[in-house]
This record gives sequence, structure tokens and C-alpha cells, in this order.
Amino acid sequence: MPADTVCLRTALRRFSTVSQVTASVTASGFWPLLAAPLFNSIALLLALGFRRNRTVIVLAILTLASLALAGVVAPEQGARGTDAARMFAPWLLLAAAAMPERRLLARRNLILLLLLAIAVWLTLAAPAHVWPGLRKALPFGLLPWSGGAVAAMLTLIAAGLCLLRWVLRGSPLEAGLSIVLALAGFALLPAMSPDSARYAFALAGVGALSAILYASYRMAFVDALAGLPNRRALDEALARQSGDYALAMVDVDHFKQFNDTHGHDAGDRVLRSVAQQLRSVRGGSAYRYGGEEFCLLFTGARMHGAKQACEDVRKRVEQLRVHVRSAPPKLRRGQATKRIDASDVQVTVSIGLAERDAQRRFAEDVLKAADTALYKAKSKGRNRVVVG
Ligand code: GH3
Ligand code: MG
Ligand code: MG
Repeated sequence: MPADTVCLRTALRRFSTVSQVTASVTASGFWPLLAAPLFNSIALLLALGFRRNRTVIVLAILTLASLALAGVVAPEQGARGTDAARMFAPWLLLAAAAMPERRLLARRNLILLLLLAIAVWLTLAAPAHVWPGLRKALPFGLLPWSGGAVAAMLTLIAAGLCLLRWVLRGSPLEAGLSIVLALAGFALLPAMSPDSARYAFALAGVGALSAILYASYRMAFVDALAGLPNRRALDEALARQSGDYALAMVDVDHFKQFNDTHGHDAGDRVLRSVAQQLRSVRGGSAYRYGGEEFCLLFTGARMHGAKQACEDVRKRVEQLRVHVRSAPPKLRRGQATKRIDASDVQVTVSIGLAERDAQRRFAEDVLKAADTALYKAKSKGRNRVVVG
């Protein structure tokens, strides 16, 4: 057969596939078919922008799997799309969930992306007679459940891994990913109708979008160590104030010395405990200003109780006992053993409080007055509240 006839046939076949896809999308409506790939791919772009590389890979797998489920990948090949989603996606998702966060082009990520590309190639290009053999060759045949149940089980295990990471590290994105993967796992259950599977994948995409946006919000506005809103959040809160308010600057006393004696890790632990006490201050909101300095903001009528609330919180920090393991003394050359002492330690805080009034109209003025009051509290002997 002449070469140009072969080209023409290939082109016609491609054209007929494109028209079939267009026809199938138009017949079923755009949203039911393409909502899942669309949401998942938007989430993928966001994850790429925020450099959440493991999430990028998970979402690349989900986008392609949801395209396969939509029948867009190989509409002329019957259930091959569903088969492909169940055969390849769960293993890849499990591998992605088990991997640590690395740069996008790290070797492990590249291997996973290569496997994903091979899965796509097999789905699109494997001849019809090879496909049943491929299904048998993959480990599903070895397990006593149908492909869908295994696929769902593997994806739910991947969800469990993310959940475990969330419990251990507290990263909100991991919590989000575990929900996303659980939804994908349910979508792959054999009992799910194609429509329900597509909706579950679309919901997974929306979940991924929300998780990435929430994680980015936390990154920008919440201090990771103390778990309190950070200085940027304070600046925004102050910019929103139209009436009077009171602002307290809280500083841990002799904290450099504390770090030198007990080590930086113990210092971090103490900062977390102090932050916890400040969080529950009566009538105010706590922020980490930076280092070992915090702010308490009392707005509206609650500013009148600010001095007493500061006094209460100062006492509570004073009574706080934090269990730390003291840093080992610097070892001399040849010294074999190191001893780490566990003990309960105590810290105190000094607080400077200032109110917004006719003389101090701007947030910088109030902050400056609170800082001056804090300086006075320090010079008067620390562990006290001074109103500026
Ligand atoms: P003062 O009573 O006058 O406030 O004395 P200070 O030692 O607390 O004040 P100084 O400003 O000299 O030291 C602050 C210390 O806080 C120095 C720094 O090592 C420590 N610090 C700041 N941020 C952190 C942190 O995130 N973790 C730990 N562990 N230490 C921190
Ligand atoms: Mg300080
Ligand atoms: Mg200090």
C-alpha cells in the first residue's frame, strides 16, 4: 500500500476518534464527563505552582485516570478506559503516597512519571488482542477479588498512608490528600456505576483544590512552630480595625539563656507550650510576632478586660511546667557516653500593653507603645505586665 494512503487512513482514523470523543462529550453533556479531569488538572497546576511535587504526581495520575473513566482516552475500545484506570492508577497512587516529598525531577519522581507515561501508552496503543493478556499479567489475577475491589483497596491504603503522615506531621495537605484518595478509592469500587465514579473523581478534584488552597493559606498566615497566626496575619488584622483596641507584646524572659542551657529543641517545645497558653487568653487573639515574641489583640469591648487577661496569662505561663530533655554538655574528644537529663522547666513572660486612642491612631504607634511598655517590664525585673 502506498505510503500516502497509509497516512491518509491514519489521519482519518484519528479524525474519527476525535469526532467520537466530541460526540460522546456532547451527548453526555460536558460536566458529567469532563468535570473530574478539569478539577483535577486545575488542582495539579496549583500544586505545581506551590511546589507540592508529590501532590502534583498524585493529581497527574488522577487527571489521567478520570480522563480514562470519562471514556475520552479510548472511546472506541469499550471498557478499556475503566480497565486502565483500575489497573494502573492504584499502584501508581500507592507508590506516590509512600514516597517522601522531593524535587519534581528527582529520580524517584521521574521513575513514577515514566511508569505513568508507559501506562498511558499501553492504554492508547496496546493492540486489542494484547489487552486481555495484560490484564491477566498484572497482579490482579493473583488476588481473589475482582479488579475493581483490588483497585479500591490499594487506593484506600494510599489514603491511609497520607492519613498516617497527617497524624505524625500535622500537614493539612496530607489530610486533604487522604480524603482525595479515599474518594478515588470509592470511585474504583466495582459496585460504582460509571456516573457515580466520575462524580466521585470530580469531588476528589474539588477536594484537592480546596486542600491545596487551604495549605497555601496556612503557609502564608500561620506560624508552623507555634500554630498561631503569624505577623502577616497580625498586620492584616490591625489594618482591618476601625475602632479602638488594645495590643499586648509578650516576650519570653531570658530565652537565649534557656536555649543555651537546654538546647534549641527544648526551646521550641517551650515556645509551643507558651503559644498554647496565649491561644486561650480571655477575650483576645494570639499571634506569633517573631522569635520568642508574641502579640495579643483585644478588640471592641473586650479591650477593657485586656490588662486582667494579660495578668492571667502571665500567671498561667509562670505556673507552666514543660518536660524537656536537656541538651548534653559539649563532649570532649574521646568521651564515650553522653547523658541526657529529663526535667521539668519553667519560663516567664513579660508583657507590654497599649491601647489605640486619639494620640495613637496608627497601628505602628500602638505597636511602638506596647514595645516601650514591654521594655519597661523587662527593666523592672521581668515577669510582669506594664501598661504603656
Ligand atoms: P529578654 O529577657 O531580655 O527578652 O532576654 P532574651 O534572652 O529572651 O532575649 P534575646 O532577644 O537576647 O534572645 C531571644 C532568643 O530567642 C534568641 C533566640 O535564640 C531565641 N529564639 C528566637 N526564635 C526562636 C525559636 O523559634 N526557637 C528557639 N528555640 N529559640 C528561638
Ligand atoms: Mg525578644
Ligand atoms: Mg526574650
